[in-house]
Amino acid sequence: MRSIVIHYNEIALKGRNRPYFVARLVRNLREATKDAGVPFVRVLNGRFEMELAPGADIDEVRDRVSRVFGVGNYARAGRTGVDLDQIGREIIDGLKGRPDPASFRIAARRADKRHAMTSVDIERHIGAMVQAATGWKVDLGNPALTINVEMLGDETFYSFGKEKGAGGLPTGVSGRVACLLSGGIDSPVAAWRMMRRGCRVYFIHFHSYPVLSRASQEKAVELARLLTQWQLHSRLFLVPFADIQQKALMTVDPALRVVVYRRLMVRIAEQIARRVRAQALVTGEVIGQVASQTLENMTVIDAASAMPVLRPLVGMDKEEIVEAAKALGSYPISIIPDQDCCTLFTPKHPATRASIGQIEEAERALDAGGLIEAAMAAAVVQDFEFPVIKSTA
Ligand code: ATP
Ligand code: MG
Repeated sequence: MRSIVIHYNEIALKGRNRPYFVARLVRNLREATKDAGVPFVRVLNGRFEMELAPGADIDEVRDRVSRVFGVGNYARAGRTGVDLDQIGREIIDGLKGRPDPASFRIAARRADKRHAMTSVDIERHIGAMVQAATGWKVDLGNPALTINVEMLGDETFYSFGKEKGAGGLPTGVSGRVACLLSGGIDSPVAAWRMMRRGCRVYFIHFHSYPVLSRASQEKAVELARLLTQWQLHSRLFLVPFADIQQKALMTVDPALRVVVYRRLMVRIAEQIARRVRAQALVTGEVIGQVASQTLENMTVIDAASAMPVLRPLVGMDKEEIVEAAKALGSYPISIIPDQDCCTLFTPKHPATRASIGQIEEAERALDAGGLIEAAMAAAVVQDFEFPVIKSTA
């Protein structure tokens, strides 16, 4: 069984955009697996086949495929002709060494309806062969093991069970966004959710080095590296924010500081987003999660940018976000202690209803324009690639 057969999310890929989405998905699959012993990806009727080179590490390839958005399900598969006895023999051979399942069934599909046999004919014929060879019980309703048989033209693929894919849409089909990535729990999950909807996500992290340690930058780098496994190329902007915070400390009413900081972050992020041709900003904000995240404050923050500010987690509970962060693998990185650049410089009781008039007045006193320009000029860019191509030199 030297192949992997991949099915895409059919519902998501319907409509006029389908050829474009499918082409993108193939490209992404190629990129994700090209250095792992997959010479090419074959496009078949409604699915793809990857044929593994001799010596390829199948678990590595599966792992890569599991993180390609747009994949509905995938399975290790064998490829053979259309002779039923031959298919049955190969399946029986492939099943050798497996623990006995409580029950099984054959699930046959024919992409090419010109075959003389119906799917049910195929299922009966091969099912009888497998049962005779193994003694396993057939259960058509709720089998422990489903043996899939897909006949396409003059080829047949067979596989044992299927693995659920990452779902969503292929990276890149929905355009680019720029995510404000703190070292916290929420923003990496927000970034991942946008990726899953087909966006390429640029990361922007604001840090307070040298006033604070480099810890937050290290976390942002680790998070960007983790998230790159899902989009293969990423760019992280590390933007110094300490000067802005120190100036604000002197002139801005403590209660207004969080919102002023957030608006300055958004203004800087918007400029970066335009440079990389991103069309929206993304944050990990959630209604009511902390005192500063109210509808009023979000409105004032949005007014700082002409770009839409997307908040994919806005209606989630903390528990749900933590669960998502654990599944993603970002949670252990996010909980590493660091001094958050905002918590350090802000009071325990921020304004929950900052008015735009007060905020704009505070920003005028700050010379926000000059501070933003200086921060932009000092920003550092870091690029990430997955898989990391190790140089042999
Ligand atoms: P997170 O878990 O993402 O840090 P949080 O619940 O701690 O979120 P805040 O610290 O209020 O919430 O931040 C709200 C959002 O603002 C974050 O989700 C993130 O998108 C953005 N943000 C906050 N601080 C930074 C930062 N230092 N760099 C980049 N973005 C930030
Ligand atoms: Mg935070």
